[in-house]
Amino acid sequence: MLDFNVPPFTGKELEYIKQAIDAGKISGDGKFTKLCSEWMKERFQVRHVLLTASCTHGLEMAAHLTGIGAGDEVILPSYTFCSTADAFVQRGAKLVFVDVRPDTMNIDERLIEDAITERTKVIAPMHYAGVACAMDEIMEIARRHNLQVVEDAAQGVDAYYKGKALGTIGDYGCYSFHETKNFTMGEGGAVAFQRDDKIEEAEILREKGTNRSKFFRGQIDKYRWVDYGSSYLPSDMNAAYLWAQFELADQIRADRMATYDFYHAALKDLADEGYLEQPFVPDYAEHNAHMYYIKLKDEPTRARLIRYLREHEIHAVFHYIPLHSAPAGLKFGRFHGEDRYTTVESERLLRLPMFYGLKQEQREHVAEEIHNFFRQ
Ligand SMILES: *Cc1c(COP(=O)(O)O)cnc(C)c1O
Repeated sequence: MLDFNVPPFTGKELEYIKQAIDAGKISGDGKFTKLCSEWMKERFQVRHVLLTASCTHGLEMAAHLTGIGAGDEVILPSYTFCSTADAFVQRGAKLVFVDVRPDTMNIDERLIEDAITERTKVIAPMHYAGVACAMDEIMEIARRHNLQVVEDAAQGVDAYYKGKALGTIGDYGCYSFHETKNFTMGEGGAVAFQRDDKIEEAEILREKGTNRSKFFRGQIDKYRWVDYGSSYLPSDMNAAYLWAQFELADQIRADRMATYDFYHAALKDLADEGYLEQPFVPDYAEHNAHMYYIKLKDEPTRARLIRYLREHEIHAVFHYIPLHSAPAGLKFGRFHGEDRYTTVESERLLRLPMFYGLKQEQREHVAEEIHNFFRQ
């Protein structure tokens, strides 16, 4: 069976994990955590990056740092992973879902302004498949209405909008290093931001409410409990795994891009003949080959193709039952405006196997079976 995902492993992971153990520093903020966060700061041109134990944790930190609270509102797409929403639910905020654009599956920036109320505090766009949202428009709306922007860039690591790294444009950006993402540490993530006035608060929040980070930099002579906090930092052993991947980031990226480009070229004839639709990448976006999806005519066609591929040893998946129709979405939010695309488009989207090291014959097998399905 060709798996949908295989966690990336580049070769040096075990050696680096052993180094972390040998250094006697397996808790958080050791050598590898620093290497990873410095690497991201440099590559993504962002002033602050804090590694977390998941993107969900990064989003929780970001939501906390915005100061959003009970009764406030956050505007977000319904077509996203539930973590985008959970972080704000934890703060007692109300979710206001708006429709997506059918071309990118990202939040439709033209619908955001109409959803703003007196209570709106945050806009939380999610960069689907590592393809950037229309960030200039979103930032302009936020500026006009004095709102903060939290980017869910879980899938957008090393992807860009007009040359700017995703996750560095809004007030806060959150990355995921879950095993299904481009770079991984098993479970992991990060929160990134440019604002210097937020670093101290962020460090305290991440370190159980203590000023321990400052203490370790020698800026104070003892550390204390100074505010509310949680424990958001990952073990340095996990960061060691991630570092092995960051060292080969260009190789991982090129490998995934080759799979993306292969699928794109190999399925073009089916798209031209109207059997399926292929992903669209706007000119302003440089994506990271996080995902390759196709859109089928409708849900029954998708179900038949999934079954057919399964019978031919290929595991293809879909995701995201729109949040607004899920039990928790009904409880914590409302959909503003018309659901023109979120539900219908989500029902016909299918993700093809995509991972580092996917072989050429496997790529060909996938493309061939999709052709066979439509020709039968
Ligand atoms: C993967 C993902 C998350 C959650 O990431 P974790 O690191 O597993 O917490 C959040 N949002 C989106 C859009 C994702 O794809």
